Amino acid sequence: MAVVCIGESLEVAALAAALAAQNPAFVFATAGIHPHDAAGFDVQRDIPRLRELLGAAVAVGECGLDYHYDNSPRQAQRTAFAAQIALAAEMHLPVVVHTREAEDDTRSLLGEARSAGVIGVMHCYTGSHSLAEVALAAGWYVSFSGIVTFNKWTDNELLRLVPRERLLVESDSPYLAPVPFRGKRNEPAWVAHTLAKVSAVRGDEALELGRVTADNAQRLFGLALEPA
Ligand SMILES: [Zn+2]
Repeated sequence: MAVVCIGESLEVAALAAALAAQNPAFVFATAGIHPHDAAGFDVQRDIPRLRELLGAAVAVGECGLDYHYDNSPRQAQRTAFAAQIALAAEMHLPVVVHTREAEDDTRSLLGEARSAGVIGVMHCYTGSHSLAEVALAAGWYVSFSGIVTFNKWTDNELLRLVPRERLLVESDSPYLAPVPFRGKRNEPAWVAHTLAKVSAVRGDEALELGRVTADNAQRLFGLALEPA
């Protein structure tokens, strides 16, 4: 069992790093600047601190582009994303990417990542099949969250499109609690409901697919786990 704890700002990344340091056997931290916070990100000022936090992290992120909420100007989002791809290349870390309604620019930044030899995961993915295919072709992973258990979810074809060796599931806690807990504060353990849905749609056995997704996460993030 392992938890990847997402540090999506410098402040939260420091908390995630502390949690990981207290629980080195099973908690692993990331560090990054979420696209929502890109406006406050200053490359000169913030990259050194981010680099320091990444010294004990398993991935860069969440980073990416969110043109749905547009909480930060799009140019600032692209700048922060590109800077974090460069940092991932420098530190030989994968990236955790958040993308929403920003398909063209995500595609072009995935191209930059590919040129830089950086892979990662399209987290909480709900985008187009074609963008997923671009990511998969570049050696990336695609991760599904509780959204796929919601009544309004209709794209089961997407759940079947991802090859099993590139498939991840995630809680995205405290957000996006899966059915039957929708609306509550999410818990990591409830990812089992998301796994059950993905397995049922794909015609896989849930326990077995859970083993596969856990192996995938361990491989992507390089998790140093005790043998089960
Ligand atoms: Zn996200």
